[in-house]
Amino acid sequence: ISLAPKVAIVTGAGAGIGEAIARALAEAGATVVVSDIDAGAAERVAASIPGSLAVAADVTDEAAVQNLIARTVETFGHLDVVVPNAGIAVTSPLAATSFEDWRKVLAVNLDGVFLTIRHALPALVSSGGGAIVNISSITSLRGSALIASYAAAKAAVTNLTATVAAEMRGYGIRANAVQPGFIDTTLVTSHQGDFEAALGLEPGGFDDLIAAKQTRYGTVEEVAAAVTFLASDASSWCNGSTLVLDGGFTSS
Ligand code: NAD
Repeated sequence: ISLAPKVAIVTGAGAGIGEAIARALAEAGATVVVSDIDAGAAERVAASIPGSLAVAADVTDEAAVQNLIARTVETFGHLDVVVPNAGIAVTSPLAATSFEDWRKVLAVNLDGVFLTIRHALPALVSSGGGAIVNISSITSLRGSALIASYAAAKAAVTNLTATVAAEMRGYGIRANAVQPGFIDTTLVTSHQGDFEAALGLEPGGFDDLIAAKQTRYGTVEEVAAAVTFLASDASSWCNGSTLVLDGGFTSS
């Protein structure tokens, strides 16, 4: 797969899956804009990717997102690939979830995806087309105890992906999504204890649940490889599709 000479923006690229996506896209030949709310993290990742640009942006801040797109086009002349990856999780039973926490997760995981796509679309149209790869989740496939806001946002992202595909297919813009299962990043590991306590499991019991399905945590590289495919012309006939990346966890 070659992504040259495409220009790609990855949000939330200062750590975890987004960082791996930024590296994979660059290895495939793309020029990458590494964006994160954490300016230092974005700078650190960009410093190790030759030719890349770090732009700090909170995806819930419309002006910051507009600046991210404008800086990209000013610096590199065009925009071809957008990966609205930034996301957060808050763990609590629905009956104990504050409206503030609910809104916080929806703001990053849904509003942030909308804002990134909304402001990237004119630049993608100017480039004559492009690819959007959203990061949904297997939590969008069914109910997910303790992460209601996260799962609801991810289900909305899956739906939004198909709407973008439908509206933009006439412009050569494709939108697809990946639905990862449990991937080994701090987003998951920092909440593992909460899940275990709520499910009445011993510490480490969550790992046993995954092992019982004869699977494991996925790696950030496994997500990045699928995103690279969906960002590339090798996936030219994929539009409005979602790809489950969970080692078979949700298959039965
Ligand atoms: P992570 O916590 O390791 O990294 C998230 C990054 O996003 C961080 O660098 C953080 O600074 C940044 N970020 C947070 N809020 C932001 C904001 N408002 N604006 C810009 N950047 C912001 O998480 P991760 O596991 O790498 O998750 C990346 C994406 O993958 C998220 O959308 C997440 O929901 C999704 N996902 C993760 C898993 C998993 O198991 N880890 C599974 C399915 C989907």
